[in-house]
Parts: sequence; C-alpha cells; structure tokens
Amino acid sequence: MSMTPYRGRFAPSPTGPLHPGSLLAALGSWLLARHAGGQWWVRIEDVDPPRTVPGAIDQQLAALTALGLTSDGPIVRQSQRDALYQRALERLLDEGTAFACHCSRSELADQHGIHHHCVARGLRAQPAIRLRVPPGTRIAFHDGLRGEVEQDVHADVGDFVLRRADGYWAYQLAVVVDDGAQSITDVVRGADLLDST
Ligand SMILES: [Zn+2]
Repeated sequence: MSMTPYRGRFAPSPTGPLHPGSLLAALGSWLLARHAGGQWWVRIEDVDPPRTVPGAIDQQLAALTALGLTSDGPIVRQSQRDALYQRALERLLDEGTAFACHCSRSELADQHGIHHHCVARGLRAQPAIRLRVPPGTRIAFHDGLRGEVEQDVHADVGDFVLRRADGYWAYQLAVVVDDGAQSITDVVRGADLLDST
C-alpha cells in the first residue's frame, strides 16, 4: 500500500466552456479523491496562449463551483509558472537529455513526424527544445480501467518537444513539472489522452 496521501487534480485548458466529457472527468476525479480521503486540486492549463479564450477561465471555475467542486489547494495557472518550467528545462539541458532542434514539420514528414535524429537542412532563429528518448525507452503505468499500460516511447513517439519553436512551453513539460511540484498522485482524464500519458 502506498503511504503517499492521495491527491488528484482536474486541469482544464481554457479554450471554451467545459464540455460534458470534461465535467465527467472533473466529477470522476473529485469522487475518487473523496473516496480515497484525499485532496482534489484544480489547475488551469493555459500554457498555450494562442488557444486561450478570454473569459473561459472564470466561466470554467464558475461551472465547477456550481456543481460543488472546489479546489482543496491553490488554483495555479500555467501561464504564471515560466520560472519553474525554465528551471526544469535548464536541468535537462545541463544533463544532456534535452537538445536544441532545428527540424521543421515538413523535414520530419519522411519519418512520419517522429524525431530520432536531426534532419534539419538549415538553422532556425529560435529552435525547439526536445527531450532525447533513447532506443529501448519503455514507460509503463497502472491505469485503473485498462490495467497495465506500456509504451515504447522511442518507437511510438520519439524525441518530443519540451519548448516549441514559437517559444511556448509544450504541454508535456508543463504538466510533468506541475504534477511533480504539486505532489499529484492520481490522474483522471479522457481515454483519448491515454497515449500521451
Ligand atoms: Zn531535430
């Protein structure tokens, strides 16, 4: 049995009103947290400013409050956590596990968009930063519904982006830093996100 106290989270992106699937995930994660005697935290995943819809954050929080779903912890916004993500990125760069990549989407098309080594024919003013995923990198976790889930991240995903060429943080970096910093133990999300987990 794990001695870590249960802490779940609901982390909507403010791209519009919460749709029924999001509300189901919110309610499900809240119920599991309550069932476990743990906490339930809300985080705003506004890491992609071009997709953020003005007013959507207040609208989403009001919808949750109307259902009686209120965060047990401080509600943080990813758009205000640059320093945290920057520190994580610098650590990975220092360790040599992250690298600057000048490849464009079209240059990676021959590899079905999967990056295993740089194929850039030129340098960009601002390169993307990717995480190096060596061959044999298999990641497994236990999913409450699907059981053991395992992915060959090298073969299926390749070196993935941590900071985009447009300067914005990639969701994959922000969400891992935040889940770690907030000591999140359990995540409830749509089945469509199983692959990206
Ligand atoms: Zn590259």
